[in-house]
Amino acid sequence: MHGQMMTLPLIVSSLLEHAERYHGDTEIVSRTVEGTLHRYTYADAHRRAKKAANALKKLGVQQGDRVGTLAWNGYRHFELYYAISGMGAITHTINPRLFPEQISWIANDAEDGVVFFDLSFASLVESIAAHCPSVKYWVAMTAPAHMPALSIPNLLCYEDLLAEESDDFAWPQLDENDAAALCYTSGTTGNPKGVLYSHRSTLLHALSSSLPDALALSGRDVISPVVPMFHVNAWGLPYSAPLVGAKLVFPGAALDGESVFELFENEGVTFSAGVPTVWLAVLQYMQKSGSALSSVKRMVVGGAACPPALMKAYEKDFGIKIQHAWGMTEMSPMGTVSTLKESHLKLSEEARFAIEVKQGRPPFGIDLKIVDDDGNALPRDGKTSGALLVRGHWVLNQYFRKDDSPLLDGWFPTGDVATLDQDGFMQITDRSKDVIKSGGEWISSIELENIAMGHPAVAEAAALGMAHPKWDERPLLVVVKKVDQGVSREDILAQYPGKVAKFCIPDDVVFVDEIPHTATGKISKVQLREQLREYRWP
Ligand code: ADP
Repeated sequence: MHGQMMTLPLIVSSLLEHAERYHGDTEIVSRTVEGTLHRYTYADAHRRAKKAANALKKLGVQQGDRVGTLAWNGYRHFELYYAISGMGAITHTINPRLFPEQISWIANDAEDGVVFFDLSFASLVESIAAHCPSVKYWVAMTAPAHMPALSIPNLLCYEDLLAEESDDFAWPQLDENDAAALCYTSGTTGNPKGVLYSHRSTLLHALSSSLPDALALSGRDVISPVVPMFHVNAWGLPYSAPLVGAKLVFPGAALDGESVFELFENEGVTFSAGVPTVWLAVLQYMQKSGSALSSVKRMVVGGAACPPALMKAYEKDFGIKIQHAWGMTEMSPMGTVSTLKESHLKLSEEARFAIEVKQGRPPFGIDLKIVDDDGNALPRDGKTSGALLVRGHWVLNQYFRKDDSPLLDGWFPTGDVATLDQDGFMQITDRSKDVIKSGGEWISSIELENIAMGHPAVAEAAALGMAHPKWDERPLLVVVKKVDQGVSREDILAQYPGKVAKFCIPDDVVFVDEIPHTATGKISKVQLREQLREYRWP
């Protein structure tokens, strides 16, 4: 027997409809690419999202089509999230920090028909447009007065498009399992892979991540997503903020410590989220200028392990709670948040801190387990570490356009190695995927190794992610020279410009006589790391 309750589809457009109806005058503030502040409300955003949906229709976009964005966090990007997904197309956020060839590869793989871009990325678009045959229109997210003179065919102006449209648009009642958004991850080796979020997974993620033991979001919060909207949908905040009716503050491209500090102070931001590198920059700015954030209560730190010293400095010196969180593009991204339980409240401050520095426990909707090399479940004793597997309502089932299943017995292997305790608190102890994560962005070790191997004097090369005080990790290249061949650090580093993005170029090169290998002949990064224990950045 079926239950007899209404079944309304869990669709993205319903979030903005709700925000307009019940939080219509709540503000959305954005720092624009030009540096000025733009302010409007959820009601304005909804009206403009409907105009944008009409414009997309006129451009020939149909349900299921992919529409790309190359944009910072701002109100136009927010409108597009809702216009594109709301009309039934798929919001494909592209990471503009990638190398141009990767960006065009991704746009081609997704077959984006229209791409919207911020003016910061005009020259990038100019360089890739000829390599993106599927893109029929490139839309500059600006007003006519700021339109750049670009040699791009079918270049359109966002404000011109909206000016022509009515704000009368009825959001279709889509199937909640339809795709809403697409995000590529380069977190593993090989070409980037697309993760296709559904309306249902996005809504369930937004609901769950707003809960008190997750991000604890409310209509009394002023939320500033510092994590980019091209990084797993800014960890879902553009969906969860309208769900709870919180004021939104978008920082645009100005992500240095001083700019973030000023924006937070001026707009009364209470909650933000981002990678450790950003919070380190804000901390350093406050320490240098003798200032203190007065309205911020909590910050969520994830994307890379949060250094305990960073957590302590914010809490002790500035009274700001840092919540450690862990997730992945494949998980929309929320997997765990470090929030204490009632039983922890009696513990000493030190014992509580030891729990809070962990990556956290899963909210309802996510299940975790750790396994050994044969897939056997390992004990949840807080000591044994193993490969971390996840499953849940907002976890990837299959990569975009890939037939083979990435799952192991219905669980997604994260490539992280972790411990789990009895309460479900997870702590990452290692990474089995061979990648480097610098300031929240992935760098492929294999790509760096292949480029080094392209030099005629290099016999073997290994790229290692070494701990770095500012960027969490930076790439170090370890090279074995061919016998009788002279080659310098500079010769090797000269191979990289033009082949990888600037932030991917190794910071240093170390020459060794031999690189250790595993029994199966692979480079043993564990042993190599051990060998370079004494290494310090120049
Ligand atoms: P995001 O950076 O938004 O979390 P990605 O898919 O780019 O998503 O990266 C996910 C990976 O980043 C994880 O598998 C893990 O290796 C690493 N990571 C994310 N959060 C943390 C964390 N809190 N501590 C350690 N590593 C983390």
